[in-house]
Amino acid sequence: MEILRLNNVVKIYGKGSAATKAVDGISFGVAKSEFVTIMGASGSGKTTLLNLIATIDIVSCGSIFVDGLDITVLGEKALADYRRDKVGFVFQEYNLLDTLTVYENIVLPLSLRNTPKKEITEKADGILKTFDIVPIKDQFPHEISGGERQRTACARALITNPSLIMADEPTGALDSKNSKNLMKLLQFMNASYGATILAVTHDPVVASYANRVLFLKDGKIYNEILKGKKADDIFFREILDINTAAGGERYVR
Ligand code: ADP
Ligand code: MG
Repeated sequence: MEILRLNNVVKIYGKGSAATKAVDGISFGVAKSEFVTIMGASGSGKTTLLNLIATIDIVSCGSIFVDGLDITVLGEKALADYRRDKVGFVFQEYNLLDTLTVYENIVLPLSLRNTPKKEITEKADGILKTFDIVPIKDQFPHEISGGERQRTACARALITNPSLIMADEPTGALDSKNSKNLMKLLQFMNASYGATILAVTHDPVVASYANRVLFLKDGKIYNEILKGKKADDIFFREILDINTAAGGERYVR
């Protein structure tokens, strides 16, 4: 089953001679429990694309289906429901609230939708254990390590069991060790919880953690590869080759 389906999505900013086609006729689908990364150089349209799916921005034309519902035609009420129930985010700076404890941050999406207390406790208990954050649950974000903040943010994105988890350059502010840890967490959420994940990045290493990579250039998808049963290093090589062939940023390890 397809969780996400884009049909000929276009986004144009500005008018006349000043117009920029940030997204130029993009179509693709994401199946349930897939982990897809969209890779492209700076300015290729990655953030615009995610913002359209997140309904932070509005398409110029085309349609976007999530769970079979065209989100480009929703009214205010249905849009609010969609944002609350269907999508989860892992932000670059994690967006944890400093005045709330780790526990309170994680259950916030449930509290906001008036989930019964018993259900909140049950869900939270499970997820705290899974992400190994039980010992720090009563601490505040500034009292915990970067890795613990990552796990807290991932737990919060997962707790409502959203149809789609999105991330825009999630490792953009991290060193290579923490980038790796975060991508492993996303892999874990995908493999163990069946979370459907769509992440965008300009980094081939980050892209290589997915099951499928879409390559974006000038607002268009120009290639796509599947991990399949390929070894990690083979898949990574393929990503590098396609990226280089398309004139993407040279990658130096
Ligand atoms: P990426 O995330 O891949 O770096 P973006 O989606 O941010 O790319 O941008 C794609 C193109 O659209 C760029 O040329 C950018 O300058 C342009 N763009 C993005 N947002 C806006 C905006 N709000 N107004 C005008 N142009 C924009
Ligand atoms: Mg961007």
